[in-house]
Amino acid sequence: MSKIIATAAIRGAHKYVREAEEKLKEAIAQKGENCKVEYPNTAYYLPIILAFFGLKVQYLKDLWDPLDRAKKLLPPLPSESVWLPYLGPTLDAGIATLVAEEIIESLKYLIGPNPVSGIWLGFADDSILREQGIKLVDGRMPGFAACVGACPTNEEAVKLIRELQEKKILVFIASNTNGKSIAEQLDEEGIQLGWDTYIVPFGKDTSASIYALNFAARSAMTFGGLQPGNLQQAREILLYNKKRVNAFVLALGTVDDEKYATAAGAINFGFPVIADTDIPQILPTGVCTYEHVVSKIPLSDIVAKGIEVRGLKIKVEKLPIPVSYGPAFEGERVRKEHIGVEFGGKYSKAYEYLKMRDMDEVQDGKIEVIGPEIDEIADAGVLPFGIFVEVAGRKMQKEFESILERRFHTFLSEALGVMHIGQRDLMWVRISKDTRKAGFKFKHLGVILHAKLLSEFPAIIDKVQVTLYTKQEDVDKMMPEAQAAYKERDERIGGMKDEDIDIFYSCALCQSYAPDHLCIITPERLGLCGAYSWLDGKAAYEINPAGANQPVAKGETINSKTGEWKGVNELIAAKSHGKLEHFSAYSMIESPMTSCGCFECIVGVVPEANGVMVVQRGYGGMTPAGMTFSTLAGTVGGGLQTPGFIGVGRMYLTSKKFISADGGFLRIVWMPKELKEALAERFKKRAEELGASDFLEKIADETTATTPEELLAFLQKVNHPALTMPSML
Ligand code: SF4
Ligand code: ZN
Repeated sequence: MSKIIATAAIRGAHKYVREAEEKLKEAIAQKGENCKVEYPNTAYYLPIILAFFGLKVQYLKDLWDPLDRAKKLLPPLPSESVWLPYLGPTLDAGIATLVAEEIIESLKYLIGPNPVSGIWLGFADDSILREQGIKLVDGRMPGFAACVGACPTNEEAVKLIRELQEKKILVFIASNTNGKSIAEQLDEEGIQLGWDTYIVPFGKDTSASIYALNFAARSAMTFGGLQPGNLQQAREILLYNKKRVNAFVLALGTVDDEKYATAAGAINFGFPVIADTDIPQILPTGVCTYEHVVSKIPLSDIVAKGIEVRGLKIKVEKLPIPVSYGPAFEGERVRKEHIGVEFGGKYSKAYEYLKMRDMDEVQDGKIEVIGPEIDEIADAGVLPFGIFVEVAGRKMQKEFESILERRFHTFLSEALGVMHIGQRDLMWVRISKDTRKAGFKFKHLGVILHAKLLSEFPAIIDKVQVTLYTKQEDVDKMMPEAQAAYKERDERIGGMKDEDIDIFYSCALCQSYAPDHLCIITPERLGLCGAYSWLDGKAAYEINPAGANQPVAKGETINSKTGEWKGVNELIAAKSHGKLEHFSAYSMIESPMTSCGCFECIVGVVPEANGVMVVQRGYGGMTPAGMTFSTLAGTVGGGLQTPGFIGVGRMYLTSKKFISADGGFLRIVWMPKELKEALAERFKKRAEELGASDFLEKIADETTATTPEELLAFLQKVNHPALTMPSML
């Protein structure tokens, strides 16, 4: 154990605790001790303080207790000559530092400067945690790297981050080196930051590192089901992180006292620190799986070293294409000024179409571009495009076509600089200038589809052949066939009624983080994430009979109005581990279906209006229920039955079975404008079926009402049908 590190870390801890105390006094002077202090949209209060001490901080005055405990943990400031033979005091200093940083950062939300500004995102709320944290815990993401500081040059910063992205490692960024942060370097180079691209800039101060660690602490409480409380429980939360959350810290550039102190905090979580500068190493294993601090690692090796030290297992897919490939690139946009070539959307006719063929009709690996290749197209050019994929396999079925085709989006988007939006004849693709310059050809779209279809569906696909059409006449020629196929697929499910079949499908995919939740998917009610229809459930079961989608025999009907069946109830009881007994498919009042966390929309009763509001994920404003989407999501999710609230896939809204036991479609009184616009066509059609053709205009939105009073006034003005329906509750 190096005494320099211990000394620096303890010095840093003292400084942070002092700063936390000053800030707390300042906040109390400004706001009074009874003022609320909180992070946005979390059920975990101040998570680090909750996890370490079991304290639920709500008001400023509640902060004295944790601050006091942090002070008690502070080891005395060692003089340079004191030799600390073991890690203990440094670790205590680390805990004190994290508590102080949590106080400092949470107070910023109250008295400023606002942690959310410019590229900086501040606290990651619980809905982000549910969505992203699970990937860390279940292994879809191998781990996270907390990058602290900056690289000597922007070029090195980009290289480092691309390497992490390619390995699917989530990048958390905090702090700076001499006033510069790696996040700013990336921003200057036009790299898109945010959760979508796996690069998360928390804040420029070193204390913003706390957002990475309180994310980790909440992961343990959410996904590990660990309860905070006493010291022993705090230890378990830390151990969970050591075992399950594979993270490491990359210290970029000089390391000052604050960074040492924060690193000492991270070591408590079992997260080792890798530095590119010459700082003293801490090599003996103990708290961390391997070394605690490894230094003087050149930037070019630093990622590899982090992976090695933390023991991450990384499977990188190497496709024979000239650009990086992986999920971190899926969410990256290609902005207008970076377009190399573009097709589809509103710019040209384009489609993607997958068709099942007989074995002898498909030549595996044949990829053909009919018409001009990318180098024959002018820079930023637009062209028509047809992606035609023929597959064959002994276990392939016609019904799988749409499921396979829908995966094109992910497959293609994961190539760096390829942006794919939409599907079918609505798809829209941009290939960036840089990607084009790197030698990417249209042919490579085929290479990707061929490789991914074979590797992801080995049980059903044996052969894949891809033809890419880039001439108008060829695109036109095939379009009608593709469109006819889309229509036929839709009709197959569109015409199906729940009454017509005896088998539903269950989906347990989300049990990994909502252990008591189960989706029951019927032809008229799709999974709440919107990604699984009944046909998808059926196909998934046939593709993988041991998978998350299982057939459920309805059995005896208990209540045809609310949608309750004996067979379904029995399965629910078993899969919810006895927590639930009933389940009604068509009611949101009487034992409604549970929600995990990935609902496309939340439907909630607005009692004043005798109707329901619908709000979609991504809508940031206020709703008439007095809660935002993310606050609502915190209440509705987690596998609980919450009468009056359900999570749904958006296509369910226009189903004949949409809360049919509670009055149905005409109960909808409010939804955000954006959602109204997106669903306008379907809404109009459904309204007409119900003889209420002007219904869409009667639904309020955020421009007409955000409180129950405003809502009611609007509904009365337009004479909304819900007002005269029987009472909902
Ligand atoms: Fe399956 Fe439901 Fe989760 Fe969608 S939300 S993946 S249907 S369990
Ligand atoms: Zn889910």
